[in-house]
Amino acid sequence: MGILPANVAVILERQKIPEGWIVAILDTGGTIVARTKDPELFIGQQGTPEFQRQTSRAQEGIYETPTLEGIAVIGGYHRSSITGWMIAFGVPKSVYTTNLRWALMIQSATAVLVLLLGALLAASISRRIVRSIRAMTTPALALGLSRKIDVPTVEIREVNELGHALTTASQLINQREVERDEAQHQKAQIEESLRRSQKLEAIGQMAATIAHDFGNLLTPILGNLDMLEERIDDPRSRLRINNALASAKRGQQLVRSLMAFARQEPSAVTIIDINQAILAMEGVLEQSLGTIGKLIFNLASEAWPVRGDATQLEMAIINLVVNARDAMTAEGTVQISTMNRTLHSEHDNLSGDYVAVAVSDTGSGMPPEILAVAFEPLFTTKEPGKGTGLGLASVYRFAKQCGGVAVIESELRKGTTVTIYLPRARNDATTDSGDSRLGRAADLGDVK
Ligand code: ADP
Ligand code: MG
Repeated sequence: MGILPANVAVILERQKIPEGWIVAILDTGGTIVARTKDPELFIGQQGTPEFQRQTSRAQEGIYETPTLEGIAVIGGYHRSSITGWMIAFGVPKSVYTTNLRWALMIQSATAVLVLLLGALLAASISRRIVRSIRAMTTPALALGLSRKIDVPTVEIREVNELGHALTTASQLINQREVERDEAQHQKAQIEESLRRSQKLEAIGQMAATIAHDFGNLLTPILGNLDMLEERIDDPRSRLRINNALASAKRGQQLVRSLMAFARQEPSAVTIIDINQAILAMEGVLEQSLGTIGKLIFNLASEAWPVRGDATQLEMAIINLVVNARDAMTAEGTVQISTMNRTLHSEHDNLSGDYVAVAVSDTGSGMPPEILAVAFEPLFTTKEPGKGTGLGLASVYRFAKQCGGVAVIESELRKGTTVTIYLPRARNDATTDSGDSRLGRAADLGDVK
């Protein structure tokens, strides 16, 4: 069977052979039957001897030798096992290296691009890290200075965790600071209270001695003046004697208040129904108040019983009402109130059940510097003969002796409230906490 070379050429033309490649078909004898490049020159010829040598080694393979027209190529061949014909193609080295260069260039460009992208990405990530960490600097410094810290939310989870840790640390520090301040405040209060009690004790002892001797001196002075006053008729001399008598009587009063203040032990401790005690004093209190102001009561419906010397309690309330009167003009109001209160480490660190007896007025109030020393014995802002400076000191001493405390709240031009906290008395002896400072045992028969 014969095949026309033109027919074979048509087959070759139909293939999409890449630009520059040379493809040829050779028959069993190695004669070129079809060729894509210059077929008119080479059809009918044999391949170069080197080509024949290299392609004869196997059924198919790769060869590397110049073509008949001398173009350096690298190519491949395949010999059909049925017909013995062979197809060979050659890729000119120039085409091949150009393609290779292109591929290499594209690859390098891609590599550079990837590197660049990587660097950009790294820079962006590092900026984020730096930004996030910097955002923590201010809160960390604020933490060191015990200031309020404001932790922003940042892009990095781990740094946010650090931020939360900073916030928690700050809260813990704040809590500790509050506790420390509270402890210091309590310590200062206790020290102040101790100092005041010791001072009261010392002054009380001194006052007792002086008042006793002074009282003894006053007795004959008064007796003699009384006798003289009866015997002398001269009005001018009588006036002088009366003046002397008035002064001596004031001295006696002073001695009495000194004695009351100096009294070491409460003499008649009973269980007191505080509301009843206050209501029983209404007449005396109205008298003490005089025409200045109005007296009102605001008593707890079921005030707990307290334990103490009822006379001293009366004296304390009278003292407070007199102070209120002295601080007020005619429009004022004095309110006496009682209230059951459970304290938790308050006022001189007291805890437990107390009855608060408060005397409030709408008077002048006290500036802070007077408030700070108002409880001091002998401190007075009143003119001689009007004040002894022993009223509030006695009140404080009484409250302390009962196991309680006295507290003043005052606002200038608004008024003053003095509150006496007295421990709740239990009428069951076993649950009675008692107070050693109370001297002798209470008369439990008095419980109402
Ligand atoms: P005295 O009344 O003899 O001056 P106190 O110990 O009772 O002594 O009071 C001391 C001082 O505290 C008073 O002189 C006054 O300045 C001030 N004070 C006391 N109670 C009040 C009050 N209710 N309002 C304003 N100031 C007061
Ligand atoms: Mg007074």
